[in-house]
Amino acid sequence: MDKAQLKKTQPVVYRTLSHALTSGRIAHAYMFAGPKSANTKNTALLFIQSLFCPHPDEDGFACQECDSCRRLAAHDAADVKWIEKERIKKNDIARLQEQFSTTAVERNGKRVYVLDRFDKATPDSSNALLKFLEEPGTSLFGILLVENAANTLTTIQSRCQLIQFRPGSIAYVKNALKDLTDEESADMLARAGYSFEEAAALVTDETYPLIREEAKVFFENMHRITAVYRMQREVFPAKGEHTTRQWVNVWLIWLLYYIKHSGRSDVRFEQKVALVAIVTETLDLLVRPVDLALCLDKVYARIRKAVNL
Ligand SMILES: [Zn+2]
Repeated sequence: MDKAQLKKTQPVVYRTLSHALTSGRIAHAYMFAGPKSANTKNTALLFIQSLFCPHPDEDGFACQECDSCRRLAAHDAADVKWIEKERIKKNDIARLQEQFSTTAVERNGKRVYVLDRFDKATPDSSNALLKFLEEPGTSLFGILLVENAANTLTTIQSRCQLIQFRPGSIAYVKNALKDLTDEESADMLARAGYSFEEAAALVTDETYPLIREEAKVFFENMHRITAVYRMQREVFPAKGEHTTRQWVNVWLIWLLYYIKHSGRSDVRFEQKVALVAIVTETLDLLVRPVDLALCLDKVYARIRKAVNL
């Protein structure tokens, strides 16, 4: 995370964290809340680096260059645990507790855990975490990353210091992506709310152009049942390699793009409106835990019905 960029794009977050770091008054649990574009994950890394860095700057933030900072950036430190899953479960929290109780305390004795997408975690895992939060060791710190704080239990919220991020700027993300991908793709990912880091990871993945192409192929053939078979068997089979929330999301946003921008003369205006609604509703649905293959089957069926050619 670029410190200057954080200061410029999230001034309130910057000041709050800087104050905690320079005063040494670190809360035992933070909830970093904001959309993907706000870069909560990279800010969490910077904050953790700052807790350990022996050479902080005048605002208390890490140098990002020393050995400690590098190891933390590589996620190579026994005293910092990241749980990055689509849906954190009770067992993940239990394992975390166990790991912290058995690993030796390194460096300055601080231990930190990060729970990504905690607003999607199971209720069970929230209850397990509550017990964890109720008996904090003096050196144990947690950061919960959420898109929407309101989607977590109030009992969790009340034990965390809320750090509310504002959405990142679309123009910034688009501009930063321009050396990595074409303008169409940069524009679309920025508008879809991706942060620069997330979008950069996507566009440099070899799967990205394939999924993009599949969205186009599907759009051109969506009235044919063969297009559905292709999706079900080759692109997103149940438990398939690419049948993940991330790639389904990419496929849907490209499909939406083709529906809006590349015309098919045989698709009428009101059909187009219906298609946009189907894809947008599905994108909204994807933020919740759903069976992806099942969810996609519904999309194909609804699209064929809407097109009805
Ligand atoms: Zn450092």
